[in-house]
Amino acid sequence: MEKLVTSDFRLGIIAGGQLGKMLALAASPWDVKTYVLDSDEHCPAATVCTRWIQGDCTDFDAVYSFGQEVEMITFEIENVNTEALQKLKREGKRIHPDPDVLALIQDKGKQKQFFQKHAVPSAAFTLMNGPEEILSALKEGRLTLPFVQKVRRAGYDGRGVAVICGEEDLAKLLQGPSVIEATVDIEKELAVIVARNGKGETASFPVVEMVLNPNANLVEMLVSPARIDASLHRNATELALQLAVKSGLQGVLAVELFLDRNGQLWVNEISPRPHNSGHHTIESAVTSQYEQHLRAVFDFPLGSTDLKRPSVLLNLLGEKGHEGPVRYHGLTKVMSLPGVKIHIYGKRYTRPFRKMGHVTVVGATLEEAEHNAAVVKKTVRVYSC
Ligand code: ADP
Repeated sequence: MEKLVTSDFRLGIIAGGQLGKMLALAASPWDVKTYVLDSDEHCPAATVCTRWIQGDCTDFDAVYSFGQEVEMITFEIENVNTEALQKLKREGKRIHPDPDVLALIQDKGKQKQFFQKHAVPSAAFTLMNGPEEILSALKEGRLTLPFVQKVRRAGYDGRGVAVICGEEDLAKLLQGPSVIEATVDIEKELAVIVARNGKGETASFPVVEMVLNPNANLVEMLVSPARIDASLHRNATELALQLAVKSGLQGVLAVELFLDRNGQLWVNEISPRPHNSGHHTIESAVTSQYEQHLRAVFDFPLGSTDLKRPSVLLNLLGEKGHEGPVRYHGLTKVMSLPGVKIHIYGKRYTRPFRKMGHVTVVGATLEEAEHNAAVVKKTVRVYSC
């Protein structure tokens, strides 16, 4: 640590979205210089990082030459050119989490095979090449309704996922190699963020509950801690810690789970990076997930994950029917409520369901946070001009 803070250490962050912005902000108290690779000069991290470097994160040359500018690389998205990262690693660059872990989770098919190999409870699956194969499997009785189709690569925030309940949904089938998964009868969606440093020390944040927007397959609200009993909390945490160990990860790992109506936990997917389900830790935990990620990648002791306060987080999603330069409504009004913390990511343009910011509401009790969050939900809107 002493060496780090007295040097001009340059940490490379691949992509400058809201997670990159918060990671750069967390690096600032240690005076670590943050270099961010992103194709958009107005990306959220551009205003807070030391240097923004223009480039496409999926492009070999852009990632490889970015690697030459920095001492260590980490990332805030998954759609990154892993061949360039692997070459940089072979040449001695420090990259955490490891590019092999990233390559594994970039392909949802490989990720499911990894769960299977390690006996991690996850919905039964089969791999298929696209709608044609899916339709003929249905016709021949090798596949039955309902099921969930997930394209193997480059899906995010519910894009790339089709929940097929009945024949009427078959028109929604997506193109491309896919994972076909058994539908879980979901009671609650949960997430656990765990961290592991280079010495193998681990830590976990309390489990959160994710509430999805009914019109878009993405998270609208997070409740921390999750309203589940202590044994489920322990089991979910244990599963997440096992995954961090089995993947050999150095950094933070977000583990998304389903709790079904029989009380059984199923791992949905893992993300080896700071995650939207951990934003609340900035205000609600002793150590934020961003600081924890930095502690882990620099191989420092991990920080306390104790909660200071319960919280409810609301994602500020672009309003339906609004597309164009963004205009926020109601922020000043909700600032008068106790425990309301506003985060605006700085994206210039809104579109329906785009994540434009979030509001964390902390409370002395979860009920108090829920009460004030309900007011925020009713009041704040993300419109276009
Ligand atoms: P993404 O990576 O795009 O977020 P997910 O795999 O998390 O995609 O799926 C998005 C949402 O779709 C989940 O949060 C859940 O609501 C629903 N979903 C995904 N898989 C299943 C499943 N096997 N059974 C039921 N619902 C599912």
